[in-house]
Amino acid sequence: MAAILLDVDGVLHVSGETIPGAVDAVKRLRAAGHRIRFVTNSTTKSRADLGMHLRSMGFAIEDDELQTTGDVAARVLKGKRILALTMPGILDDLVGLELIGMNADAVLIGGADEGEETGRVFSYLNLNRAFLELQSGADLYCLHKNRWWQTAEGPRLDAGAFVAGLEYVADTDATVLGKPSPEYFAAALEALDADAELAWMVGDDLEGDIVGAQRHGMRTVLVRTGKFRPDDLDHTGIVPDGIVSSIAQLPDWLEQNP
Ligand SMILES: [Mg+2]
Repeated sequence: MAAILLDVDGVLHVSGETIPGAVDAVKRLRAAGHRIRFVTNSTTKSRADLGMHLRSMGFAIEDDELQTTGDVAARVLKGKRILALTMPGILDDLVGLELIGMNADAVLIGGADEGEETGRVFSYLNLNRAFLELQSGADLYCLHKNRWWQTAEGPRLDAGAFVAGLEYVADTDATVLGKPSPEYFAAALEALDADAELAWMVGDDLEGDIVGAQRHGMRTVLVRTGKFRPDDLDHTGIVPDGIVSSIAQLPDWLEQNP
């Protein structure tokens, strides 16, 4: 029996539309005795909201099986004064952080969302405030540095553009807290009490899921759903241990490739 980290967005669903066969696949993985942790780079919902959302799609998932980027931020940034440019939905997971408007120890950039809130959070006013804090010595952190993500209407610009912009103007490097950071994978494996070499990462994102997990010593399976693009496999030269058409094929694949 293995420890399996399952990505959520693009693996279990796309924009709230369940991937066909995904609910059953999770059931079969559990029935086979695998230990599962759901690892998301989602930065728009708290763990409780995400758990509710996934259960409404039919997944039998407990909140404490979910790991969000906010959980990792709360661990790493504990006790610091934070200027947070994040979607309001994730604030519940930033427990123990002092969120302030200026004189920050750290600037934290979250991901974009499909609604109008994104334009307000990443306004010129807020980005300029972040720039001034960085100039005054605050450190730059981000929940992820994704370039784009897949929605039902197509690709959308993600907050990686703002993170890269702030790195450029403040001449600094952001610390990434979500996937593919080592802190993120370490926290997930610790929760399952699993060794990296014996654990699988299953995702639709070559950079965030596959490369990140490979660097952490894990085995990887890529799904051909969500943000998967066949061309990327050729361009990047990244080779996952397995490729399945969707999570629906994962239980059979794991039986054949234990
Ligand atoms: Mg994904």
